[in-house]
Amino acid sequence: MENFDLVVCGAGPAGSAASIKACRNGMKVLLLDKKFFPRPKTCGGGIPYKIKEIFPELNWDELIENHIHNMNHTIHFKKPQRHSFSSQGNSLSILTVLREKFDSALVQLAQKTGVSFLAGFQIQRKNDSQKKLEISIESSNGEKRIISSDFLIISDGALGRTKKKFGFLEEYPLSVAIEGNFKIGTERRKSSEDTLFLDYGLDNGYWWAFPKKEQINIGGGVFFPFVSKNFEKKQIKSLILNGISKFVKYFSDEGSNYENFEERLVGSILPLYNGFRKIGNQDGSILLCGDSAGLVNPFFGDGILNSIKSGLVASEMIVQGKSKDYSEKIYEEIGKELEWAFKIATIFYKWPSFFFKTMICQPRASKVAAQMLSGEPLFKQVSLKLEKKFGKYINLFRGKQ
Ligand SMILES: Cc1cc2nc3c(=O)[nH]c(=O)nc-3n(C[C@H](O)[C@H](O)[C@H](O)COP(=O)(O)OP(=O)(O)OC[C@H]3O[C@@H](n4cnc5c(N)ncnc54)[C@H](O)[C@@H]3O)c2cc1C
Repeated sequence: MENFDLVVCGAGPAGSAASIKACRNGMKVLLLDKKFFPRPKTCGGGIPYKIKEIFPELNWDELIENHIHNMNHTIHFKKPQRHSFSSQGNSLSILTVLREKFDSALVQLAQKTGVSFLAGFQIQRKNDSQKKLEISIESSNGEKRIISSDFLIISDGALGRTKKKFGFLEEYPLSVAIEGNFKIGTERRKSSEDTLFLDYGLDNGYWWAFPKKEQINIGGGVFFPFVSKNFEKKQIKSLILNGISKFVKYFSDEGSNYENFEERLVGSILPLYNGFRKIGNQDGSILLCGDSAGLVNPFFGDGILNSIKSGLVASEMIVQGKSKDYSEKIYEEIGKELEWAFKIATIFYKWPSFFFKTMICQPRASKVAAQMLSGEPLFKQVSLKLEKKFGKYINLFRGKQ
């Protein structure tokens, strides 16, 4: 039997961040993933500059596809509002990356730090053991191993099933998003490389276009908890595809390849944060991080920064012997703000045209959005401002403050 201080299950940004932090603090860490890297990941690949500051040792010249400094907002692909929110090298810029490369680079950094990495393995079950946490892991080709560890971090993403094996049964409200990468023509590339395109005409969600070096990521997401119960899955898909096709048309020019674009789209779910919940077991030996803990921002649908933050916090709490308080700490550091984001989302996605006119058209709005995406705690402030301005029309902000 192999012994570790910490086993981390799932090597996305949450798992890699947790492993690196724990290893740097002297723990013997095993990181495992059911896939072999590089592996594809359904994602727009937009990350705040902040992540570059968290991992300065990554080869960012290799990883960064584009630096985004402008947002182009439209509603039903009309009334474009283009606002600049940062300049080159500014800490508010948004970087675009290819997830296959970014996630692999983090795993490599973990290995360089001293983390043992096992690809192609999953946790099969928790064994009955009196002393340490004992688990059986199995590879895709049937190789079995028994591992013992003091701690386990589960970070196997939105579709991960590992937490159920350890008694975490709660589900999160889910949103659904679809995206695809397309080759972009030279002319369009020049005019759009530093701009994030957002359209709010999608029922209960939005469409985006994220320019990368050679391609553009086009996608859309619908925020599930806010749609009516009668909404059919098929209907959601066709709603999302409708806007994607409009962006596709917009970005098509000589040199682009958008034929049969639907065949190149992929979709997945986003587990949205909607309030405090226990994301650790009673004795603090098993902790959930990232999408596994439902830490996706319910307003923008971004989850990479929160995944990394939760991984770092989990390992820090373990190292400090405070892992029993992990759920409360995550609520303090991430959750409280996301509760406000949830409240704003419930009204924003109900009346996007109204908020487009009154908020998004303001040049300052893009900077505030970039600050929020960088993890600055502004959701509460914006909520209170909204209540002050429109309080007689909306009463969704009552309650905790
Ligand atoms: C269409 C779409 C677009 C998005 N765009 C953005 C964006 O632009 N910016 C942003 O910040 N966020 C975005 N997100 C959200 C973001 O992708 C996630 O929040 C983020 O990847 C979560 O990181 P994670 O480490 O928790 O999980 P993941 O990145 O999902 O990693 C989980 C890992 O666990 C592994 N795994 C799964 N099951 C098992 C198992 N049983 N055993 C072992 N390993 C397992 C997987 O192979 C994977 O490597 C988007 C999501 C979607 C669906």
